[in-house]
Amino acid sequence: YAKRDGGNTHRRFSGQMAAAVLKRMTLENLLRKAIERGELRLHYQPQFNIGNGTVAGAETLLRWTNPELGMVSPAEFIPLAEDTGLIAPIGEWVLRNACAQARAWRDQGLTLPRVAVNVSAVQFLHKGFPDLVTRILEETGLEPRTLELELTESALMRDADSAALALRTLKDIGVQLAIDDFGTGYSSLSRLKQFPIDRLKIDRSFVRDIETDADDAAIAVAIIAMASSMRLEVVAEGVETPGQLEFLRNRGCHEVQGFLLSRPLPAEQIAALLARPGARRTGGA
Ligand code: C2E
Ligand code: MG
Ligand code: MG
Ligand code: MG
Repeated sequence: YAKRDGGNTHRRFSGQMAAAVLKRMTLENLLRKAIERGELRLHYQPQFNIGNGTVAGAETLLRWTNPELGMVSPAEFIPLAEDTGLIAPIGEWVLRNACAQARAWRDQGLTLPRVAVNVSAVQFLHKGFPDLVTRILEETGLEPRTLELELTESALMRDADSAALALRTLKDIGVQLAIDDFGTGYSSLSRLKQFPIDRLKIDRSFVRDIETDADDAAIAVAIIAMASSMRLEVVAEGVETPGQLEFLRNRGCHEVQGFLLSRPLPAEQIAALLARPGARRTGGA
């Protein structure tokens, strides 16, 4: 069977590869122009204190809508931006706009304790990154501790010594630091202890089946226990059901984020949420 199909398979495969390369080049060219064409937008997903239901922060999530392609998922274009170097201007745009937005909310008298920004490994390990953060905080007049940078566990573990140094420099600026997608990247505990971080985000893949999969539940419980012994806060991402929320509450998770509570929203809707006094969604006291 393999023999009979061999030639065709090869031709088909090459055709698919050519199509993939073409798609990638098209995507890259369109992404290159996306900033100047104003096709990028930021959405913000609120993070709630699980105990009292108040808004504890919001995660900035990049959205790209292109007239030809429609909505393109960041899961698709962020890796491309990382490979092509486009992540530098895009990442800077995200950081500047998120900080400016957080400052604007403050000027409107709205209290958002933190705005989190995802930072890719490529950006984070660049020598100029701490200076960029300092410059943008000065430009926007945002208090450093209002900004949280989310680094993925895998980004930090790629070169843990350089990462520890870079994190220290960022911590000295006064920003908050979170490890994103925690549990997926093989951190060693001794490494983790060296990182001056404030918060761990339990990856969505563990939250999904937390009520039915004993292994996922055990991992989530272990992350929460470890975090509290290290005096770190824990945010669970991807909370979609009341059952997941209850499980996390009973296990002492501090904050939650997910479609059950709120989808990522445009800035105006975040302002409306913050303006509603005592807006609470986690059903806590
Ligand atoms: P992430 O940082 O782990 O972000 C969480 C992702 O989970 C977001 O997907 C969010 O919309 C989604 N999400 C939140 N709650 C739920 C839920 O209850 N259920 C489900 N199924 N999904 C939920 P999104 O916006 O598509 O972003 C995907 C990834 O792209 C992010 O994962 C992050 O790694 C990356 N990304 C997004 N924006 C940026 C950015 O500005 N810079 C960088 N470097 N990466 C970004
Ligand atoms: Mg994130
Ligand atoms: Mg995450
Ligand atoms: Mg994730």
